[in-house]
Order: sequence, then C-alpha cells, then structure tokens
Amino acid sequence: MREKILQLEKIAQELEPNAEQRKGWIEQVVNYTDQFLENIETRKAFVVADDQSGEFLRHGIAEEGKDMASLITLLDKHVNTPGLNPASGGHLAYIPGGGIFPTALGDYIVDIFNTYAGIFFTGPGAVRMENMLLRWMCDLVGFPKTALGNLTSGGSIANLTAIVTARDHKGITPKRIEVSVIYLTEQAHHSVQKAIRIAGLNEAILRYIPVDDRFRMDTTALEKSIAKDKAAGLNPFLVIASAGTTDTGAIDAMDTISELAVANNMWFHVDAAYGGFFLLADEVKAAFRGIERADSVTIDPHKGLFLSYGLGAVLIKDVAALEQSHYYKANYMQDAVGDVTEPSPADLSPELTKHFRGMRMWLPLQLLGVKRFSAALSEKIWLCRYFYEAIQALDFEVGPYPELSVMIYRYVPTKGDANEFNKALVKAVQDEGSVFLSSTTIGGVYWLRLAVLCFRSHLRTIDTCLRVLETSVERLKQTPAFAE
Ligand SMILES: *Cc1c(COP(=O)(O)O)cnc(C)c1O
Repeated sequence: MREKILQLEKIAQELEPNAEQRKGWIEQVVNYTDQFLENIETRKAFVVADDQSGEFLRHGIAEEGKDMASLITLLDKHVNTPGLNPASGGHLAYIPGGGIFPTALGDYIVDIFNTYAGIFFTGPGAVRMENMLLRWMCDLVGFPKTALGNLTSGGSIANLTAIVTARDHKGITPKRIEVSVIYLTEQAHHSVQKAIRIAGLNEAILRYIPVDDRFRMDTTALEKSIAKDKAAGLNPFLVIASAGTTDTGAIDAMDTISELAVANNMWFHVDAAYGGFFLLADEVKAAFRGIERADSVTIDPHKGLFLSYGLGAVLIKDVAALEQSHYYKANYMQDAVGDVTEPSPADLSPELTKHFRGMRMWLPLQLLGVKRFSAALSEKIWLCRYFYEAIQALDFEVGPYPELSVMIYRYVPTKGDANEFNKALVKAVQDEGSVFLSSTTIGGVYWLRLAVLCFRSHLRTIDTCLRVLETSVERLKQTPAFAE
C-alpha cells in the first residue's frame, strides 16, 4: 500500500511547482500583462468578434498539461481580445470601473496563502480586515456603530442579501407574501427585480412609483400609494430607492422616502451600487442626504473604487437583522463558534468558505490613499459635465443635467426615424472601436448613454468620444435612410 501511495504522490507532486517553475510561469504571465498595460492607451475599447470559438473549444481539458506560452497565446486570441475591453478608458458604457492594478496583487497574495476568511476563529486577521472595510463604508454612508454588512461578489448579491434581510425582519412569511407590498421605480436596476424573485417574493405586490422629469421617485405619489395600500388592508413592508440609477445617475430623495418608511414601519433599502462612492467627491456629496437613514445600502467597490470585477458590499444598519437571516449551527463547526470578538462573514451571508475579498480592496486603498480615489471620482463628474456641454454644441439632444457621471443624449436627424438613427449610431461607434458606448430606452425613446467611471477615462478620452460621434453622425447622414 505504501508503494502505491508513494507512486501517486510522485504524479501529484507536479501540483507543487518548484522555485524555478514558479519563476518561469510568473515571468510569462507578468510579461503578458505588462505588455497589455503598456499598450492600454492605444488598444481598442471594443473589438468585433469574428467567431472562432471552435478553435478555442478544440483546446479542451486533457490528461496532460500544456505549456504556459501556448495557453497565453490562446487566451490572448480568444478571451482577452474579442468583445469589450473593460480595462480601457474608452469603456464609457454600462457602468465601467477599469480594474486598478493593486487589486490583482491583493488577489495574488490571498490566493497563495489561501486565507480562510469565513470565520473569525480560523482567520481572525482576515475577518478583522473585512469588518474594518465594512465599517469604513458604513462610516462613509453615515451608519451608526451597530451597522455592519458583508463583502459580496457584486451589487446583485448585495441587493439580494438586503432584500432577504428585509423580508425576514418584517416577518414576510409565505402566508403574508400576497398582501405584502414593495415600492420601487422603473429606474431600479434589474438586479432588484431578480433579487425579489430569488427571495421568493414574486407573489408580493410591486408598485412602480412614477418618476419626475429627472427620473427620481415621485415621493408624493409614493405617499399616496402607501396610504391607499394600507387602507386596502395590504402590508407595505419595503421601499427601494436608488442613489445613482444606471440609466441617468438619478438620486432619489432619500430624506423624504426614509420619513415615509419610518412612519409606515417599512424597510428602506438604497441601491447605491453605482453611485455610493461619489460620497467621496465634494461636488456631489450633498445629493446623498438621507442615505444614512436607510436600513440597508448596496455599494460596489468594483465600480466606484475602480477595483477589478468581483467586489460588492451590502451594509445593514442593524447587523442583528442580517444575522437573523444568515446565521447557522452545525455540529462539525463546533470548534469554530464561541469567539465573538468580531462577527464572522459565515454568519452574515449565505457563504461559508469564500474568497478573501477584503484584501483586493484593502491593498489598493492602503497603497494609494483615499485622496487619489476622491480625485478620480471628481474628475469623472467633471468629464461628464464637460461632455454634457460639448455634445450639445454638436447639435445633440440631452437628458437631464448629470447628477453624477452618467447621462443620456441622442441625435435627432432632420430626416428618418430618430430611434433607428441612434441605434445605427451606437453600432457605428462600436465598429470604430476607440470608445465603447451603450444605449437605453426610456418611455419608448432610444437614448445613447455616457457612463464615465473607468479610472482610465480622461479628458482626451472624452474628446476622442466626441470626435467619433461627430464623424459617425456625418457619415450616417449620408446614408439613404437619413439623407436630407
Ligand atoms: C451595477 C449595478 C447593480 C448590479 O451590480 P453588479 O455588481 O453588476 O452585480 C445594481 N444596481 C445598480 C444601480 C448598478 O449600477
């Protein structure tokens, strides 16, 4: 038996590369990523994919390993080139972020040590770090000391965690779901509806409150709606506001909404996945008044702190409510309980073993200092304001003045369908590739969006964007459908 075991060990040994092998792999990977970063300014923001997935899939998972160089070639051709380049400053669509370099170093350290961050007993330093980061964000939104939360993989899971907590805290048992009411607007991010469904609240009543001309929840309509529902014997239990909508960056009147929530004993959730970190920017800080009165907040470090994808956060004012929904007891974990110096993520989230995500946020913040992030966020606000002026000078129509760093605009041609024109315009810009833009439809009107949040987007990027839009419009106006 010993013979057999030693034989297997010999084959499995390769799982532990020696110093020389490690050095070789690291060199190849770092050469590859460095080359990418050196050329980031000139690389396209979008590359139309010529579908060669067949070639990629032919290189399947096999019994024998392959060499790093051939794998990097494969990755570069099939994974890191086609489609959107999310690291590019020219990524001005959806909600970008960029991915600051130290995020990768944080992940690298974590992955080597394989730190256990689920439970305080086994990873006291890791849990302390994550809780410290959560408290820093709680401070940022103005939550009291009773608040904590959880570092999630992104904003969607953060919204889900908050909605599950609200459901349980307000006692929405299956029997009560059909008479229970959730208030939100059409401008809420789709992850909210998804979370409501996953949380088993599909049969609850969803009231879409109208928005004003700046796409903010009409609080008078909200008040009326709640009163009407109560009079009808229904159970209003949750109101969901946005602090920075994805479409236009609108910030709901959180002060007023919180008063209505308190008066009607409702949970008040704020989705600040995109907007939250603008609390670090003096220009717009005041617009977030009332966020401190929420019961829960979603905020996304992989957006507003420019971290590489994979880090969101849910902040809960009363950590006991979060724990009530997520704690566990298990016999095989009996050694790991008892120490309550710091609450453990495993008691505050659906996860047990988890990625030690805190490090990818802690290292960049520590290395660079908060003021660099504040400056970058202010820069994004001013870039959007600059675009708002400049695009009107090119005869575009614009939506509301940007509250944060997202705005909508469109070109109305003198001949032809405006929606079709703007659809073709987005396509033309994507084909050109220097910048990447996306669109949205609001009330049947097709709008182009500008979303400035990649830390690599600067004045020159916005100037390029304006130039590409201008030439694309000129070209489209020559085509038969729109020629005057
Ligand atoms: C991006 C976003 C989300 C979803 O966050 P993910 O990190 O993509 O899961 C939720 N709400 C708003 C307002 C967002 O902008």
